[in-house]
Amino acid sequence: MPNKIIITIDGWSSCGKSTLAKQLATALGYVYIDSGAMYRAITLYFLRNHIDWTDPKSVKQALADIQISFHFNPKSQQTEIFLNDENVEYVIRDLVIAEKVSDVAAIREVRSYAVAQQQVMGARKGIVMDGRDIGTTVFPDAELKIFMTADSAVRVERRFRELFAKNPNINIEEVKANLEMRDYIDSHREVSPLRKADGAIEIDNTNLTMPEQLEKAMKLVKKII
Ligand code: C5P
Repeated sequence: MPNKIIITIDGWSSCGKSTLAKQLATALGYVYIDSGAMYRAITLYFLRNHIDWTDPKSVKQALADIQISFHFNPKSQQTEIFLNDENVEYVIRDLVIAEKVSDVAAIREVRSYAVAQQQVMGARKGIVMDGRDIGTTVFPDAELKIFMTADSAVRVERRFRELFAKNPNINIEEVKANLEMRDYIDSHREVSPLRKADGAIEIDNTNLTMPEQLEKAMKLVKKII
C-alpha cells in the first residue's frame, strides 16, 4: 500500500491496545511493535541479574549488556521479543514481571534506551506501536494517534482471563491491584507519563467486539491514506 504511516496506540493497562495494534498491522501489512514488551524484557533481565535499579551506574552498565530484538514467528503468526537471543515472549507476561515493570519503566535511562530503539524501528514508517508514551514522546508526529480506554472492571476481567489460562492459581484481586498500581505509576511518573497525546483520537472499547473496534480504527486510517 502506498503512503505508509505510523500509527500509535496508547492507553491504560489491559484495555486492548495490543489486540487492536495486531489487527491493524495484519490488515495493513504493517509491522507491529509491542513497546511494553521491551520494558518487560528489561525488567526480566534486571530481576534475573539482581541489578540494583536504584543505582543509575548499575542501570547503565546493565543496559549496555542488553540486546532486544523482535522476530516474526510463523508458527504463532506473531512478532515475538528476544532478549540477548532468547525468546522471552512468554516469560515476560508473568505477574512477577508485571509487579516490577512500572518501577523499571519510570527510570530515565531505561526510557531513553527503549525510546531510541523504538524510533529507529519506526523510521521507515508502516508500523503500529502500542504503549504509554508512543504518541507523546516516541512518535509525536505520527499520522494517526489512538488513545484507548475501557471500563476498569472489564479490563481486570480480561487480564484475569488471560493470566488464569496460564496459571489457575492466580486470583482476580491480585490482578486488579496490579493494574491499578501500574496505571497509577505510569500516569504519575516524571519522565513521559501516560497521557492522551495532542491530536489523539479516543476509542473506548468497553462495548465493542473485535471486528467493531477494527472497523472503527480502519475508518480513521482510511481518512489518512
Ligand atoms: O503494555 P504492557 O502492559 O505490557 O506494558 C508493561 C509496562 O511497561 C507498563 O505498565 C508501563 O509501566 C511500561 N510501558 C511504558 N511505556 C510504554 C510501554 C509500556 O512505560 N511505551
